Amino acid sequence: MKLPILLITLVAMVAAKSAPGRMAARYDHFRIYQLTIETNLQMEELKKIHEHISVHFLNELGAVGNKYNVIVGPLFHRALEKTLKFLEIVYEVIVDDLQKLIDESSVGDDSQMEWETYHTLDTIYDWIDQECAAHDFLECKVIGQSYEGRDIKSIRLSKRSGNKAIFLEGNIHAMEWISSATVTFLLNQLINSEDPEMQRLSEEYDWIVVPMVNPDGFVYTHEVERLWRKNRRPNGYRNESGDCYGIDMNRNFDYHWGGAGWNIDEPCDHWFGGEEPNTEVEIISLQNFVSSFEDGYIRSYMAYHAYGQYVLLPYGHSNTEFPPNYEQMKRIAAAFSDAAADVYGSTFTYGASGLLNYVVSGAAKDWAYGVKKIPFTCTVELRDKGTFGFFLPSNQITEVGLEVTAGLKALVNKAAEEGIFD
Ligand SMILES: [Zn+2]
Repeated sequence: MKLPILLITLVAMVAAKSAPGRMAARYDHFRIYQLTIETNLQMEELKKIHEHISVHFLNELGAVGNKYNVIVGPLFHRALEKTLKFLEIVYEVIVDDLQKLIDESSVGDDSQMEWETYHTLDTIYDWIDQECAAHDFLECKVIGQSYEGRDIKSIRLSKRSGNKAIFLEGNIHAMEWISSATVTFLLNQLINSEDPEMQRLSEEYDWIVVPMVNPDGFVYTHEVERLWRKNRRPNGYRNESGDCYGIDMNRNFDYHWGGAGWNIDEPCDHWFGGEEPNTEVEIISLQNFVSSFEDGYIRSYMAYHAYGQYVLLPYGHSNTEFPPNYEQMKRIAAAFSDAAADVYGSTFTYGASGLLNYVVSGAAKDWAYGVKKIPFTCTVELRDKGTFGFFLPSNQITEVGLEVTAGLKALVNKAAEEGIFD
């Protein structure tokens, strides 16, 4: 089994003794190194680096020519740098003290929902309940419980019958806090904004939102391990540090499942896609919920993730096979990208995920497109491009919300022009 999880466990154990705070695991003086991998040989060696250095990969290793971020503790800085020099891998220390970054992107005033800090699950859910109680046009439903028994809540906004629907999915990956922050920002805009264009979008379309697909993992990132990605079901495997937990739920959907993806078959690693598709109760609940609506009602499915600034289109499982309406989806994604960039200059790259990132299967957008026949689906990878990565400072939440709002307006209008809602 892999070392990264062992590292996390060791860190957690040390941290629990030295700094009993809100978060058990601490990352004082842990660095994030950004490596530019230029050759296949470098990639092959990087994949084996954990055999002698404790590293936590923040990105799946995929194509040569990309940059990859790794977390390394102070004990291993010198060994890593020596190895990188030996392999002639170009690197940069982009974060010198990860704990500082985690502190700057932590939960601030959690007394009520707003979008200037990150919030806990309880505050997010309380806000949803309040909005639901206040507005007749919202229908709120618990679509199922997580493995540890937490509610998975949904909100459907519908102001008029006969509308087609747009589905927004949030925080399937636990550590990607900006995801649920952005999805709730969008929902708040749809419910409460006085912007006439936003009001029109909330009149003319139904919106179905599941802001927190992975509540167990999310709570775990708040209370124990900020770097957690998967859900929290013991997956039946063990390694040197004990039982292994969780499935990468965005690798567990039943469409070309299990075909590809780095370490998708490593049960103790962050990207384990499960023994078979549809093993996770959270994913089954989400799929059943999507399937509970009549065919043709949901016309767009968007899953919000971090990070990298991409609009990733189907397919993930191949970089040679493309969806029938791929060119159309690209035009719609381009509208998002152009409009989002107009706000603060953030550029979103768009295209098939198998082409842009790496070939990986079992993701929600591919299932929604391939199985549910929803004609525009995507994964939106939010800010940034790697400077802060998963630890985006909370003072950027509102900016992300505003640029994505602008992108979404343009996307929906372009999709309408393209006949997606017909
Ligand atoms: Zn993600």
